[in-house]
Amino acid sequence: MQVRYENINKKFGNVHVLKNLHLTVNDGEFLVLLGPSGCGKSTALRMLAGLENPTSGEIYIGGQPVTDMDPKDRDISMVFQSYALYPHMSVFENITYPLKIRKVPKAERKKKADDIAEILEIGDLLKRKPKELSGGQRQRVALGRSLIRQPNVFLMDEPLSNLDAKLRVHMRGEIKRLHSELGITSVYVTHDQTEAMTMADRIAIMEGGHLQQLASPDEIYHQPANRYVGGFIGSPA
Ligand code: ADP
Ligand code: MG
Repeated sequence: MQVRYENINKKFGNVHVLKNLHLTVNDGEFLVLLGPSGCGKSTALRMLAGLENPTSGEIYIGGQPVTDMDPKDRDISMVFQSYALYPHMSVFENITYPLKIRKVPKAERKKKADDIAEILEIGDLLKRKPKELSGGQRQRVALGRSLIRQPNVFLMDEPLSNLDAKLRVHMRGEIKRLHSELGITSVYVTHDQTEAMTMADRIAIMEGGHLQQLASPDEIYHQPANRYVGGFIGSPA
């Protein structure tokens, strides 16, 4: 499902965080929002989820304006950096919680949990509690909890930054595998250039509230739009 930011501005008090943002994420694309800390990545993502409102401009999901739409009615789910699982609940209960609160019957919850657990290769962990899992397993459970509702748009805000370096590299590949299996439009926020270069179909580089360049990793590396992009990516120009 296509996602579009149309001339979005966001101010917190007199801090102008996003300036005239125009950005289209294509259906099925894996788009990475890349930029230094404080440049407005999370704010841009949270707007899609409906957790922040733009000061001006319009956001479209699947061609429909959603600025006034309730977060829970948006066909979107989001994984955060701090993906707190419910410690007293089993993996199964954690994963199916979004269905339970929507009163989906138990048999259907079980079926959907089995399906997503198989994709995430955590089928043998469903009875465990979060404290009995490794960091990578917990992250998979968090991904499962977000994906069980089969949203059309999947948002990730620095989801790997709490993992150690080796696991982080492994999970990059896992998230990409998940993306291609589910074919779900994904927006992935990171400040890590390598993560962006290895995962993205296209990268949107942000700085100072402005979109600096939107292009494929190859193009960004070989044809940076300006000095800022070249310096940030470390490309030769
Ligand atoms: P990033 O995710 O790129 O690190 P953020 O979108 O979190 O950046 O923040 C962008 C800017 O907006 C920062 O200067 C931050 O302090 C400010 N900001 C974010 N959320 C709020 C808020 N709720 N109230 C006030 N300022 C905020
Ligand atoms: Mg952030």
